[in-house]
Amino acid sequence: MKETLRHFRKLFPVVFAVIFMISAAMAQEKSYGASASGEMGVAYSMHFAQLGTKEVEDNTALSSTTFPNAFSARLYNQPKGVSGTIQYQVNLSRSGWLPVAENGQTTGNRSSSQALESVKVWLNGDLAKRYDVYTSVQVDGKWSKWYTNGTKAGKEGVGKHITGVWIAIAKKGTPAPKDAGKAFTLGEASVPSGKVRKLDTSKPMIALTFDDGPSTGNTDKVLDALVASGGKATFFVVGQSISGERVKPLVRAASLGMEIGNHSWAHENLVKLSQAQVRESLTKTNAKIKEITGLDTVLVRPPYGSFNASTKEVLKSMGSPAILWSIDTLDWKTKNTQKTVDTVLSNVKDGDIILIHDTHAPSAAAAQILIPELTKRGYQLVTVSELAAYRGGMEAGKTYGSFRKK
Ligand code: ZN
Repeated sequence: MKETLRHFRKLFPVVFAVIFMISAAMAQEKSYGASASGEMGVAYSMHFAQLGTKEVEDNTALSSTTFPNAFSARLYNQPKGVSGTIQYQVNLSRSGWLPVAENGQTTGNRSSSQALESVKVWLNGDLAKRYDVYTSVQVDGKWSKWYTNGTKAGKEGVGKHITGVWIAIAKKGTPAPKDAGKAFTLGEASVPSGKVRKLDTSKPMIALTFDDGPSTGNTDKVLDALVASGGKATFFVVGQSISGERVKPLVRAASLGMEIGNHSWAHENLVKLSQAQVRESLTKTNAKIKEITGLDTVLVRPPYGSFNASTKEVLKSMGSPAILWSIDTLDWKTKNTQKTVDTVLSNVKDGDIILIHDTHAPSAAAAQILIPELTKRGYQLVTVSELAAYRGGMEAGKTYGSFRKK
């Protein structure tokens, strides 16, 4: 936590500026983003070297400090009877412009060390008559202005690659979304793991995190409550626990759009391991999660919240931030449902990361009370990556205990 504070103080002007700009950009979401009413939107993804594929929805910045080598975009809620697709083309360093791709096809080369240098995105058919598509790219930490309807974003052949993309769709005749180049200058990595939903920025958000699973019975109880409330959470799983009957709840969590994080292979105290051993424990767990769920894991929760400079070096090289917490329920110790519930309800505030364990029945019972109650109190239950994406992003090798709004 000390480290987070020091880091925050150093970066305060940057963080403040970024938060201000993000708030400004989000204020316009209602008019341009896909609304709950089922308005058409665009989801787009990039594959980043080391980090894997990340997807976000309409009008959300997607960037990283590593380079992207593949891209895809797809529409959702396309109005019935309106013809057309979304098409796009990328320029890959040393290869030039690749063939046109459309509707969620991936273009680029995920296994290559060639980076994307520029992108063109457009609509065709009736869609092109009704909507404009806006594209901005990030180069050297700066976002470009908006380029519309297939105009090239980025500059190829000058030894520069893009580090991110940002796309919005707006009905023709409505004003253009706020100029991306002016709205954002995100220098920090802001790579969400998995999908980032559209969230109401006027309402508070918190990230419930469940450690030590997967666990038969208990994990499913937590998932049932999340499904009933429409919330999401993050499950930091132990690699060696992903076996036998415990595979099922993990597959279910992933298929429900929950975030899966890495809690080491055997719940080791990472500080007591060599760098090679830390890397082995985390890599093995990431590979197991990938094998079972198909998901690339970005987040790491060090067991016992224990880490040091050496651990952080390994995390940084793996592209992972360390996620701590701001509310520790101590549920594993008390094994008391009411105490766990009370600890959360009497302390909870916007931006919290809450630590619970889905390996104990009293904790799962507490989650079944907390999830509907927190939802009733107006908290949006989000994954850690969603919370981070709306609050300034995360950086590999750094630690985060909460994501506050300023
Ligand atoms: Zn643990």
